[in-house]
Amino acid sequence: MNRVCASAPQLQGITPYDPKYLPAETLLSANENPSDVEKELRREISGEIRRVPLNRYPDPLANELRDMIAEANGLDRNQVLLGNGGDELLFNIALAWGGPGRKFLNLPPTFSVYAANARLTGTETVDVPRLEDYSIDEDAVLARVSQGDISYVIITSPNNPTGGLADGGFVARLLEATDALVMVDEAYFEFSRRTVRPLLDKHKNLVILRTFSKAFSLAAVRLGYVLGSEEVIREFIKVRQPYSVDALSQAVARVVYRNRAKFEPGIQAIIDERSRLLDGLSRIPGVSTYPSDANYLMFRIKDAAKVWEQLYECGVLVRDFSHAPYLENCLRVTVGSREENDRFLQAMKEVAIAHL
Ligand SMILES: *Cc1c(COP(=O)(O)O)cnc(C)c1O
Repeated sequence: MNRVCASAPQLQGITPYDPKYLPAETLLSANENPSDVEKELRREISGEIRRVPLNRYPDPLANELRDMIAEANGLDRNQVLLGNGGDELLFNIALAWGGPGRKFLNLPPTFSVYAANARLTGTETVDVPRLEDYSIDEDAVLARVSQGDISYVIITSPNNPTGGLADGGFVARLLEATDALVMVDEAYFEFSRRTVRPLLDKHKNLVILRTFSKAFSLAAVRLGYVLGSEEVIREFIKVRQPYSVDALSQAVARVVYRNRAKFEPGIQAIIDERSRLLDGLSRIPGVSTYPSDANYLMFRIKDAAKVWEQLYECGVLVRDFSHAPYLENCLRVTVGSREENDRFLQAMKEVAIAHL
């Protein structure tokens, strides 16, 4: 046969996810950590990897890691689950709580992966857009869930790409107001130093997502985890690929997590650089900035798509959201090293002045 029948109807009109990664001297588009894992730790990782039997399947649930993460968060092993990046767990929530006839409550503008996963699983996405300053429209969210037909909600805190935190009191009220599963995506929590973890003790409908990709410099490795009630974790286990977290990733993450205190100075440096970058950016004429609790800043500038291009010509890659809904003329820059941030600020000054 030299033809193939149509793929599943929910795929019609979908374009594959494009991280818009381009080669550049200064990479500030993907919210990665500017520093790679340090030499000494890399040696320890090599040692750990050498001991991995490559002919055997990995521990499907990565129990050693589960135990380490559980202990650090005051939970039991069965309240933790690892995934192939946070992204796998975001797909798993759509598989386990979404599906035809079910509804996902989304708070745009936010991480586009959520709505894409809903679409792939035949889940209806119900949007409650954020307010003008990109804070959550709390009353509208509470009113919408009170209709009783939402299966799951995802709250990104800090929100990507806009940078703000969700209010903890609001999350608590939401968990009381609905039995929908509420995921709080804390991919950037190491930079905000705020978590809704205490709410887990009283709310079975809360699940928290975290990742090794940002604060722990392991974007290449693909590892994330969720914290939740035993009941919720059981459902996630039902839909996951049994061996999605390979033995090499487990070995790397064990070393990194055991040594996570060593990442603290790097995290603090990013937090310090974040205020310096915000300050520098807000002094540039024509730029409006948004405060951020994460390792990136969103800003608005006239002709943003053009600005993006001119920054790229200067060797600086940032992320262009100017064509995304609710984000007209918005760009997002990752907080990099001091030198990278200086290069970005210098390029921005030149580009902005040329635009005046
Ligand atoms: C980066 C990110 C994740 C997880 O990324 P992984 O690399 O797949 O672990 C999840 N949510 C948000 C909002 C992110 O920005």
